[in-house]
Amino acid sequence: MEKFETFTYALDGNLYINLTSKCQNDCTFCVRNESSEYFGYKLWLSREPSAEEVLARIPADIHAYREYVFCGFGEPTLRLDTLLAVAKELKARGATVRLNTNGQASLTLGRDVSADLAGCVDKINVSLNESNAADYVRLCRPAKGEAAFGALQDFAKKCAERGIETWFSVVDIIGEDKIAQCRAIAQKCGVTLRVREYIEH
Ligand code: SF4
Repeated sequence: MEKFETFTYALDGNLYINLTSKCQNDCTFCVRNESSEYFGYKLWLSREPSAEEVLARIPADIHAYREYVFCGFGEPTLRLDTLLAVAKELKARGATVRLNTNGQASLTLGRDVSADLAGCVDKINVSLNESNAADYVRLCRPAKGEAAFGALQDFAKKCAERGIETWFSVVDIIGEDKIAQCRAIAQKCGVTLRVREYIEH
């Protein structure tokens, strides 16, 4: 696969920050498996950027973008130190900061990282994807197996408790029964559920 230095990319009025191409999951639906491109952007990274390199691509007028979103072809929290350094600077400049994540940061690092995120991340979208651990493992193929499903729920709960606007996302193709189960999981964790429409690539 050809690789690039697309550390940031603009979409729908937001600026997306692409820190890594690594991930703890290997989701069957991941766009990385099909293409090096996403909405015309070439997101497979030839190397991972430093915080300084990302900040060099942030506009002087911070309000040029609605939100600054950590989201790319990999899991942003695998670069937690860089993410935090960039997020702190963005917040200091008055930006709204969002993280799109698989929710496994605390499981991977072996500690609660929600405290690190509170104060520099305003919003967190945790991909729930499924209604139970066995189906999550089949769909997302996490390195740590079924433990990932409970861990991502605990992560979302703690982020919400710290005042970060946190929600789970699922795609509507899982069906109404599973969506109802996901809604119950979200309620238990104190977060909301957002159901996205499935779009075939
Ligand atoms: S969590 Fe996201 S980046 Fe990771 S494999 Fe799944 S879809 Fe791809």
